[in-house]
Amino acid sequence: MARKQRILVVEDERDVADLVTYNLERAGYEVSTARDGLIGQEMALRDEPDLIVLDLMLPGKDGYSVFKDIRRDSRTSTTPVIMLTARAQTEDRIQGLQAGADDYLTKPFSPKELVLRVGAILRRSDVSPGTVTVKAGPFRFDKNNVKFYLEESEVDLTSIEFKLLLFLAERPGKAQDRNDLLRNIWGYSDEVHSRTLDTHMKRLRQKLGDHARKIETVRGVGYRLSTD
Ligand code: CA
Repeated sequence: MARKQRILVVEDERDVADLVTYNLERAGYEVSTARDGLIGQEMALRDEPDLIVLDLMLPGKDGYSVFKDIRRDSRTSTTPVIMLTARAQTEDRIQGLQAGADDYLTKPFSPKELVLRVGAILRRSDVSPGTVTVKAGPFRFDKNNVKFYLEESEVDLTSIEFKLLLFLAERPGKAQDRNDLLRNIWGYSDEVHSRTLDTHMKRLRQKLGDHARKIETVRGVGYRLSTD
């Protein structure tokens, strides 16, 4: 049997942490918890979990700061993160996604919804044997290790940037609809996620330097990877 996928839950509210842990364990995941931002960050770097559920309001160190630091560390730079936020404001949710979180849930949320989102994200980062490397012009994707190479030099992409570019690279020359891109990254498409797509694309292009022009904006549709 394959090893259980490991999830780190960083949440100081005991009842929320217990509920989340109970439901994730029941869904077959191995769960560890931290009740403090600093400890959560230490555990993330030490244990390298498959996914992190991160509350934003935490003692010790707030969730955004923890998030920024784990994204900077090569051990966790591509680990999927689902943010838990108490803030209902659309702008706050957009901020979390633009910072590079893989998804977010606004409290109070249904534990079932969380389990669904976790499953969707982990399935998307799953790799079937034999399709480990994808090449497209100067781009090479190591899907197993979520590593991206531009003319054989590694470029640090966030997990969302990696998935976006890979989605285009696997369908070269064909315009991809915004909604298809969103559904591939987050499992569904809505206005909040849609508003962050162009920000992710802009950052991705910055990281590609001269090759940024390979990502073409297709007006009224979405994006396309040029085959020139
Ligand atoms: Ca909290």
